[in-house]
Amino acid sequence: MSETNNSNEVVVSIKNLQKAFGDNVVLRDIDLDVHKGEVVVVLGPSGSGKSTMLRCINRLEHPTSGSIVVEGVDVCAKGVDLNKVRTHLGMVFQQFNLFPHLSVKKNVMLAQQKVLKRSKEEAEKIAVEELTKVGLAERIDFMPSQLSGGQQQRVAIARALSMNPHVMLFDEATSALDPELVRDVLGVMRDLAHDGMTMIVVTHEMGFARDVADRVVFMDGGVIVEEGTPSEVFDHPKSERTKAFLGNIS
Ligand code: ADP
Ligand code: MG
Repeated sequence: MSETNNSNEVVVSIKNLQKAFGDNVVLRDIDLDVHKGEVVVVLGPSGSGKSTMLRCINRLEHPTSGSIVVEGVDVCAKGVDLNKVRTHLGMVFQQFNLFPHLSVKKNVMLAQQKVLKRSKEEAEKIAVEELTKVGLAERIDFMPSQLSGGQQQRVAIARALSMNPHVMLFDEATSALDPELVRDVLGVMRDLAHDGMTMIVVTHEMGFARDVADRVVFMDGGVIVEEGTPSEVFDHPKSERTKAFLGNIS
């Protein structure tokens, strides 16, 4: 558990969120408040709407109805500056999406220069700092193809962190990795949590959820079925659906 979750400040507030793709309603009445420094782990079967919820938060998807307020800004409002909203929301996907023709360092510098207008020197300094944090100081001049999947994912995390996000969203960040590479990436995520980062983490890594989450949210069929502390959800699940899900995967 992160030791820094002692804030009442709500950083992400989701109310009555609905999302439909045509006739397919994939999120219905989602309510979720995430506090500063809190680590919320989202669990649920494939197709339950986890990715869609994360994608609504940084407006890669436009909600059908409901509201999402990030640090006081309604991200669904007309005319909202999406670039500004997204600079404060770091997102890490299952696929790392690094630029294959750019070195590791350049990958971490690019958005800093383009979006935040940082100078080359400053962007470089921050890239080195963030890459050091994720344990890749010696790899800064490598090309992505010269790295393992786990190392590439850590570059993607460093890239997100270089933008000084206030919230980090992780969507199955370790699902594409070979098992032996998962640990290092989870280690980086664990360190971030201990440093007080506000995080929403979609994962199937139950050990991580148990150790690191302040709160576990179980989704199924586009609704939040159950939420609570890791001990509440894992050791005393209330809903049959949660029990069945946990029974099937552990
Ligand atoms: P999860 O991440 O929990 O596996 P998703 O949020 O990816 O679930 O998907 C939830 C549902 O939304 C699925 O039925 C999926 O097919 C549908 N869906 C997701 N993205 C799109 C899209 N861009 N267009 C149409 N349907 C989508
Ligand atoms: Mg998903």
